[in-house]
Amino acid sequence: MLALCKTAPTVNGIELREVDVPTPGPGEVLLRVRYAGLCGTDMHIYHWAPRMARRMVLPRVLGHEVCAVVETLGEGVQGIQPGDQVSLESHIYCGNCRQCLLDQKHLCEHTRYPGIDVDGGFAEWLVVPASIVWVNPPGFSPQLSAMMEPFGIAVHACGEGTGVAGQRVLVNGCGPIGLMAVAVARALGAHQVIAADLNPLRLSTAEALGADLCIHPGDQDLVKVVQAATGGEGVDVAIELTGAEAGLFASLAALRRGGDYRLIGAPADPVAIDLTQWLRTGPTIHNIHGRRIWRSWQQAGDLVSGGRVDLSPLVSHVVPLKDGPSAFDLVLQGKAVKPLLAMDV
Ligand SMILES: [Zn+2]
Ligand SMILES: [Zn+2]
Repeated sequence: MLALCKTAPTVNGIELREVDVPTPGPGEVLLRVRYAGLCGTDMHIYHWAPRMARRMVLPRVLGHEVCAVVETLGEGVQGIQPGDQVSLESHIYCGNCRQCLLDQKHLCEHTRYPGIDVDGGFAEWLVVPASIVWVNPPGFSPQLSAMMEPFGIAVHACGEGTGVAGQRVLVNGCGPIGLMAVAVARALGAHQVIAADLNPLRLSTAEALGADLCIHPGDQDLVKVVQAATGGEGVDVAIELTGAEAGLFASLAALRRGGDYRLIGAPADPVAIDLTQWLRTGPTIHNIHGRRIWRSWQQAGDLVSGGRVDLSPLVSHVVPLKDGPSAFDLVLQGKAVKPLLAMDV
């Protein structure tokens, strides 16, 4: 079968290869992949980022944001049927460690990821443990199904701490997950949703998804604009996704005293925090790593199935698997919001 693989430990180092169709073992399922989304993690792998990518054993089939149809079940798999259309949780959790047993599977100490630690979904066929399969209801859009994994992160972020209902929410960094957070904050009753990003395409998408105010930090002072828009008080909730030190501190400065700071995108290098300032202003930090399994999935599925969030404006490109490397170019050039690879065209 055709598969898009990381083959060399360098920048790029990505190519199409013919590989064997995998066989499901006990507790696993064989899936026919329909769509798979390209995301920031794949771009880190493209750039061979030290913290994330360099543990990979190459060659590795990439891809962890998957819509697929169940083909066959390995021994002992229950609750899933051939023909089911599914999305995948990307954290392969062990189910036995203390975090897993305390309903914190997203923090499992033995987590493995498809597309990093095991072969992923940029391929025509994929084998995964049945424990990460989420069955979508009949008629659920296949393209949206491929976006439920990142969407679950946005749902997780909006549901932590004080939530978003009735509050002023800043989403700083409007890649796909930031844009999804804009839509979720709107759907869950935020009083005001402020979006910030340097890319005009992303900002216009944020507006289409319901942001009240869009800020371009290259042209505007983010903190001053937020202060002006909130009567000088700052936002109640800051969701930080820039992955940049300047963005991280801008979100903190835009937050009201005692507000909720939810960190999704972390800078690559350590950051010095002024703890005296931290004590005085009293933010509560929530680290949003992955999804709450399966609470975020349940909520995410309801929001999409109920029509309260429309993720379709995020699908900017659908690229056949055989042209897969061009999807990376689209993101590198800032032209794409969420490219999906399509396996069956
Ligand atoms: Zn992803
Ligand atoms: Zn575990």
